[in-house]
Amino acid sequence: MMKILLSIVIIFNTAICISQTENQIEDQVRKSILELKEFIAIPNDALEINDINKNIVWLDNKFKSRGFSTTIIQTEGSPLFYAEIIRKEKLPTILFYMHFDGQSVDNAKWNQEDPYKIVLKRKVDNNWQDLDWSILNGKIDLNWRLFGRSTSDDKGPIVMFLNAIDLLKKNKEKIPFNIKVILDSEEEKSSKPLPKAVRDNHELLKADFLIINDGPVHHSNKPTLVFGCRGVTTLSITTFGPIKPQHSGHYGNYAPNPGFRLAKVLSSMKDENGKVIIDRFYKGIEFDMATQKILKAVPDDIATIHKNLAINKPETVGSYYQEALQFPSLNIRGLSSGWTGAKARTIVPDRAIAEIDIRLVLETDGNSLKKLVKDHIKKQGYFIIDREPTIEERLKYDKIIMIKEGSVTNPFRTDLNN
Ligand SMILES: [Zn+2]
Repeated sequence: MMKILLSIVIIFNTAICISQTENQIEDQVRKSILELKEFIAIPNDALEINDINKNIVWLDNKFKSRGFSTTIIQTEGSPLFYAEIIRKEKLPTILFYMHFDGQSVDNAKWNQEDPYKIVLKRKVDNNWQDLDWSILNGKIDLNWRLFGRSTSDDKGPIVMFLNAIDLLKKNKEKIPFNIKVILDSEEEKSSKPLPKAVRDNHELLKADFLIINDGPVHHSNKPTLVFGCRGVTTLSITTFGPIKPQHSGHYGNYAPNPGFRLAKVLSSMKDENGKVIIDRFYKGIEFDMATQKILKAVPDDIATIHKNLAINKPETVGSYYQEALQFPSLNIRGLSSGWTGAKARTIVPDRAIAEIDIRLVLETDGNSLKKLVKDHIKKQGYFIIDREPTIEERLKYDKIIMIKEGSVTNPFRTDLNN
């Protein structure tokens, strides 16, 4: 799934190039839909190397037919696909990143026969209705939608990119850049081999600009440029009760309950409005007037966002949506203790676990923020360890908490005047 979050968004006017007629664009859209249909039909489960190889064969063919020279970059995992058009050595170079792998599919969870067989639909009274492909021969309605694995994330952008190149060529537009393209095959598995592969192929990938074509469409449906990406780090926090779950009839009121302890720790981190109240958590984050002006210019339709999320009121870390994204966040991404639902039992559980993620911005350092959270917990009288407590420790300390830290992925931000 997408892990990129907005930092700053600029919406451009949709009429980018006056030399393209509406008919010409419609023809190209028609062609790109059919090309995407063909591409989606090749399964791309990131866990299946045979799938990945079939996609590479397709990509190789498509990029070569547009005049790119191509290379397969071997990695410690699945191979990466690379393509380039070097026009002149002295022109600036843009490197595009996209990915062609997808999450595994569960056919039963799809409202169509096969997630790899793309379906064209239109919305009628809030329901999606299938359309016959022959409808493409007529006028294309831009409110139609395509459904299939990786249609938007992230095979769609690859096909859009190829067709944009076609249009530029048709119109004999001179592209004032050298173009390099790197296509990831393990994005949905956290791109583990990518950093080393980039270092090993430093010369090949060298560029003046990097554009990542991956991320959500703004709800205004306008073309969007995002000038950065928040980073992330994680904490796994566990509180302890009796060494084994105990019957609440026997030990309720006596054996300390880890769920209540964890709830107290967690609720001490934020106020009623979702603001983190841990000392110095937001330190150093300020915006000048110029930045505020840009953030406020993003045409966010708050009513639509609230309707889509079905929420009454947002948290108020920022005073509006775009401002909220400029702060680090503290999020409980998972919680568990004992059993719930039909499996609920009358026990005092042995432990309670909270999985936390912290989104990072340029002004914050992931390791420092984790330390602030740990110091905050320590002040509440907890003995902090990074492994299971021993029996001796359990007997010695009343309040024990186990905190395991995840690695830090740094944020980045591009100057708007770049
Ligand atoms: Zn993606």
